[in-house]
Amino acid sequence: MEAARAAQPRWAGLSGLERGKYLFRVARLIQERARELAVVESMDGGKPVRESRDVDVPLAAAHFFHYAGWADKLSYGVGGREVAPLGVAAQIVPWNFPLLMAAWKLAPALACGNTAVLKPAETTPLTALLLAEICQEAELPEGVVSIIPGDGSTGATLVREPDIDKVAFTGSTSVGKDIQAALAGRGVSLTLELGGKSANVVFEDAALDQAVEGIVNGIFFNQGHVCCAGSRLLIQESVADVVVGKLWERMGRLRVGDPLDKNTDVGAINSREQLERIEELVDAGEGEGAQRRTVACELPDRGFWYAPTIFTEVAPAHRIAVEEIFGPVVSVLTFRTQAEAIDKANNSAYGLAAGIWTDKGAKAFEVASALQAGVVWQNTYNHFDPSAAFGGYKESGFGREGGPAGLRPYLRIA
Ligand code: NAP
Ligand code: MG
Repeated sequence: MEAARAAQPRWAGLSGLERGKYLFRVARLIQERARELAVVESMDGGKPVRESRDVDVPLAAAHFFHYAGWADKLSYGVGGREVAPLGVAAQIVPWNFPLLMAAWKLAPALACGNTAVLKPAETTPLTALLLAEICQEAELPEGVVSIIPGDGSTGATLVREPDIDKVAFTGSTSVGKDIQAALAGRGVSLTLELGGKSANVVFEDAALDQAVEGIVNGIFFNQGHVCCAGSRLLIQESVADVVVGKLWERMGRLRVGDPLDKNTDVGAINSREQLERIEELVDAGEGEGAQRRTVACELPDRGFWYAPTIFTEVAPAHRIAVEEIFGPVVSVLTFRTQAEAIDKANNSAYGLAAGIWTDKGAKAFEVASALQAGVVWQNTYNHFDPSAAFGGYKESGFGREGGPAGLRPYLRIA
């Protein structure tokens, strides 16, 4: 904390152009060390190396490139107003996208002239530590970025440090609420990116094969350890049987297993704790009367695994339709009309993301504007870009990451 505080005035005193150069350097070094980062990410957390290689690492670099470009244009990002950095940012990230979430946090904070102290998740600290090495290689001045591995208690201590100006947290809603309570009345700026139970809505006029690919990507990407996973699948009744049939057939072709095998689609569950959470919710789904089907596939002996699973006959009040499972489990609900689809999609304490599958542009716009979700995808899912803002409504949190909107949480705006 002292190092971050001491470094902050000089970091903020550099011209935006100079700060941008450092961020460009970090981005380039991430690209240069991409293979190493991808392999370490998959070994550490269990995600398929194809995803680390094609998604996590390139997007992490892209975020640094994006915010490198903003560093000398900050006031243009906020409507031409005067800006100043907040100071020292405490940042806490989860285990599902360890490097990418670190990039989402650090890049805008640094671009805006803040220094940062970041705590990675206990089970996945390695790529954040490599990123610290990269920051050294980029000759970032000492104290601008500090990475402090540790468990939840380290995070709890960090957010209670007296000398912080900003907390940015991504993780569970329960910890998010705890942090918000801890900061009450302290004048520390806070952004929370929390859980979700996002609706992926398939209308009868959609290109169904394309939709099935999007459903698979929506829920089985990263074993479903995705805050914006399309975990509530809403299908129009007239095509529900067809879509579920196609989806089940497609699920049978997913390869589950060794994260370091480039052909693997679904890798390992991150921890025993997370596996137990998934099992508990799946048991609850069966107990409440939903129909469960799990793909029959061979799972490795060592490690934690969960085969792709679909629930049909799900009622809106079932726990599997309400709570975040954070695993490769999709709950199917049906609807008859557009109005019913909107009602059901919004029937959640969360509001992070949603998907709409339709060939009708007008319908997509109508539904998108009625959905209470920070991100709405049309005819795609889990599509990320550093220039697009990401963040939630309701219990999914507040504040945005990405694009010019992602500058605001790190600036004092006159
Ligand atoms: P979590 O406990 O909220 O973890 C997120 C981060 O916060 C980790 O770095 C964690 O450290 C830290 N942390 C834990 N307790 C803290 C506290 N009291 N104060 C400050 N920081 C604290 O989430 P989880 O236990 O890993 O996962 C639980 C559930 O959260 C998942 O099943 C899923 O539903 C949801 N989740 C959502 C996201 C998302 O992207 N929105 C990401 C992960 C999990 P440790 O790693 O040491 O616990
Ligand atoms: Mg935890």
